Amino acid sequence: MIIILFGAPGVGKGTQATILAEKLNVAHLSTGDAFRSAIKRSTPVGQLAKGFVDAGALVPDDVVAKIVEEAMSADSFANGAILDGFPRTQGQADALNVLLQAKGLTIGKVVNIDVDNAAIAERLLLRGREDDTREVIDFRLSVYQKETEPLLQFYREMDKLVTVDGMGTVEEVNQRIIEAL
Ligand code: ADP
Repeated sequence: MIIILFGAPGVGKGTQATILAEKLNVAHLSTGDAFRSAIKRSTPVGQLAKGFVDAGALVPDDVVAKIVEEAMSADSFANGAILDGFPRTQGQADALNVLLQAKGLTIGKVVNIDVDNAAIAERLLLRGREDDTREVIDFRLSVYQKETEPLLQFYREMDKLVTVDGMGTVEEVNQRIIEAL
């Protein structure tokens, strides 16, 4: 079964995905981590992605598809996975549906982690990753609102969407996610 962790940059998708993958004993795919690793190793995909990641822009869908297909062809994905940071566009969501159908997998739930924008900016500034400067954060939030947030309606219509409050401790939020699943 596939679980999608959804939400704006900085809501805690990565932290929660890591914990859930361990608890449920399934694979974890973070497209952000996959890009950062590819960039570090300067692979062809890394070279294509670097400028977009540095600027806080979305990596083009065809490049995202490459990294997702590669990751999902691993044996560890046969039982399903936690997806963190993917899909982020309607094109990616459509591509995911096609890919899952081919693999005989289905989406269990899309968990929308809800945190208000002021708290998000504060968390990201504290995290201090290279793309966590005030300007790039504001841009990533605007990209999220424009390109990614509309997917909430798409998954609501597919009857997959659950929303959990992302404020509180890591363990509190994790408990809420587990209850929602
Ligand atoms: P955050 O959730 O804080 O934005 P991520 O690690 O998920 O951090 O993503 C970092 C960057 O990687 C994004 O700003 C974007 O450039 C790129 N990226 C990650 N996932 C995707 C995706 N599904 N589609 C396009 N770009 C992506």
